[in-house]
Amino acid sequence: MNKSTVEVRRSPESESGPGRLADARAAAFSQFVLQLPFAAALLDRDLRLLATSREWAAHGLAPDLRPGVDARRALVAAEDVLPLMKCAEEGEAFSRYLPALDPDGVQQIWRTEFSACRDDGDEPYAVMVTARDVTGYAEATLRAERDQQRLRMALELDGLLVREYDLHTRELLFSGATPDLEKWCRFKTDPLEIIHRDDRDRVAALVAARKPGETGVYEFRLNRDDGVETWVRSASKVLIGANGRPERLVNLFKDITDRRRQSEAVETLAFKDNLTDLPNRALFQLRFQEAVNASELLGEMFGLIMIDVDHFKDINDTLGHDAGDALLKRLAEMLRYAFRADDTVARLGGDEFAVILRGLHSEADMLRPIQTLQELLRRPIEHGGRSFTCSASIGAALHGDMDADPSHMVKNADIALYRAKDAGRNRSVMFQPSMRSELEQRIELLRDVRAGIAAGEFLLFYQPVVDIRVGGVTGFEALMRWAHPEQGVLAPARFMAAFEDQDLSLKLGDVAFEAALKQMRAWLDAGVEFGRVAVNISAAQFRSGRLAEEIQDRLARWNVPCDRLTIEVTENVYMGWGSDMVSETVCRLHDAGVMIALDDFGTGYASLANLRQFPIDRLKIDKSFVQNAEDEAIVKAVITLGSSMGMKVVAEGVEDQAQLDALVGYGCDQVQGYHFGRPMPAADVPGFLAGFVQ
Ligand code: C2E
Ligand code: CA
Ligand code: CA
Repeated sequence: MNKSTVEVRRSPESESGPGRLADARAAAFSQFVLQLPFAAALLDRDLRLLATSREWAAHGLAPDLRPGVDARRALVAAEDVLPLMKCAEEGEAFSRYLPALDPDGVQQIWRTEFSACRDDGDEPYAVMVTARDVTGYAEATLRAERDQQRLRMALELDGLLVREYDLHTRELLFSGATPDLEKWCRFKTDPLEIIHRDDRDRVAALVAARKPGETGVYEFRLNRDDGVETWVRSASKVLIGANGRPERLVNLFKDITDRRRQSEAVETLAFKDNLTDLPNRALFQLRFQEAVNASELLGEMFGLIMIDVDHFKDINDTLGHDAGDALLKRLAEMLRYAFRADDTVARLGGDEFAVILRGLHSEADMLRPIQTLQELLRRPIEHGGRSFTCSASIGAALHGDMDADPSHMVKNADIALYRAKDAGRNRSVMFQPSMRSELEQRIELLRDVRAGIAAGEFLLFYQPVVDIRVGGVTGFEALMRWAHPEQGVLAPARFMAAFEDQDLSLKLGDVAFEAALKQMRAWLDAGVEFGRVAVNISAAQFRSGRLAEEIQDRLARWNVPCDRLTIEVTENVYMGWGSDMVSETVCRLHDAGVMIALDDFGTGYASLANLRQFPIDRLKIDKSFVQNAEDEAIVKAVITLGSSMGMKVVAEGVEDQAQLDALVGYGCDQVQGYHFGRPMPAADVPGFLAGFVQ
């Protein structure tokens, strides 16, 4: 068998019938065997090999245990076939010393132990085989009476200590030259005395659960009064005398302190987050699985909390990474303080934290520490002589309902977190089942949009804008469309959520700008007189603070003059977060000759007075006002106000002659709507322009 491949075979009858459950267990157990750090193999009830550990293969042990398959190295002698079958069928364990040849032909002695794996009904479903090269030790044991000296040597070589305890005479016998170990493995009345207080209950429970005649293997610290920590691995077995009564307790001890220390070091490396010293995602996952198991087995209630720092990226960008790190460390401290010591507080990565709370009695047990955390968060954080505040969004889920699947907890807490962010951040939300379907749809949509962007399925349609006074087309508004492979061309109403998603709206913004500029370049080259193209900008695109440069770079790259471009910004963007940044960006673009249009005017809360500070060239009246006759007064007022402030007014959504006539009467400058033309593919634009008559 190849060293690095390990086979897991399943028996053919595993597809159906009563054997299926046992096979599922055997498959799970096979996975376990693969990982064992010593030579081990798993056989099914028909004695076929299911899995072997790497060491098994590395030692060149026979791939098959049935005699005659590879007679030289078969690990079962002919006389052992019956006991092996008995082990598989009735679960009777047995062990052997077996002579074998190693791959170089050197004689070895292997100690093999065969024991049955039993299901809940105590039925054996597989046989576990462990093998240990005991060449030195076993030979010595075999000739123990004649050759004590050789036994000592073998034990010494292996660093093993053998302790034999006569249950009747209470006599203790040691072999093996490990005096230090020997000293601490002596006991007066109870063999468990030698186990460190903190490990004793655990081992005692294992010993109590052991079946008579079985060998138990335990790892524990020795109970040393000199404070030195010594870990041992101990194999223990009670030997039965000829009269069928327990006679002697035999223990084998090996000092494994070094190995323990190494694996602990590896564990801390693998399981700890460097910055905050909190458990990392890997440990979180282990702990989460433990919580799930406990809830399934014991019906324990547990809670999961997801925490996300609000606008962490902005803090990093504006105050520097040092400040970002300081914030994360501070947050880790707050979390440690707010939650109990045995709750698992983990950093999952970036600014994401999670807490697992076990053994809860009610929702209140979870809400209390969340409240403490929120109070702590209100305190300012000092860093480098400056002080700043941060907030976090928190999503929590509780598993108490026995019918629910506890593995959904992560998803549920995530959904609650998403809700907290969506509702304006800086708050905590408790998961409710009704949140799931709505959000799942949204998440699915965002995933599809992401894939659609990657596949180049997003493109622009162009809707003409007509100047009433001049009587011609002054430009086009570029409107996003999704050429969906199954659903056809979709308008933004079907993917609005993507424009609200920070990451996707940036990507869509990119697509829109590139497509629009490429198109303008092509029209310019072809001599198509399109006027200006208006591109819609979402709030997220202003976030970087570099939007003005980006747009100017792109214009230069495509060699499109600034006065061919209009950007449409809604009043919510002006009034929203970081309006200073928006103002600066818009001013720079305006100065460069890009036209600025205020989109959807009248639907938000801004008044024109609020918007005075922004350079606005065009005011677009939302189609809901244009199409609703009762809003006539508003439309009139906006047109009057706009022109008094030196802005041109564009009416959107003009669908018929009557609406157009009214707008002309009010002195509106420009119109846009189905009455003149619907949004159309770029290829239709030249034809539309050529045939346009008002
Ligand atoms: P908007 O910027 O207000 O765009 C005008 C919308 O009105 C367009 O819808 C257009 O097709 C529609 N419309 C034009 N004339 C008429 C009419 O006579 N009657 C009716 N009923 N509707 C008319 P569309 O293309 O579905 O786009 C909807 C919204 O999606 C846009 O509203 C805009 O907010 C957003 N959007 C579209 N493309 C982009 C883009 O590239 N970036 C960003 N950030 N948003 C975009
Ligand atoms: Ca628009
Ligand atoms: Ca609009």
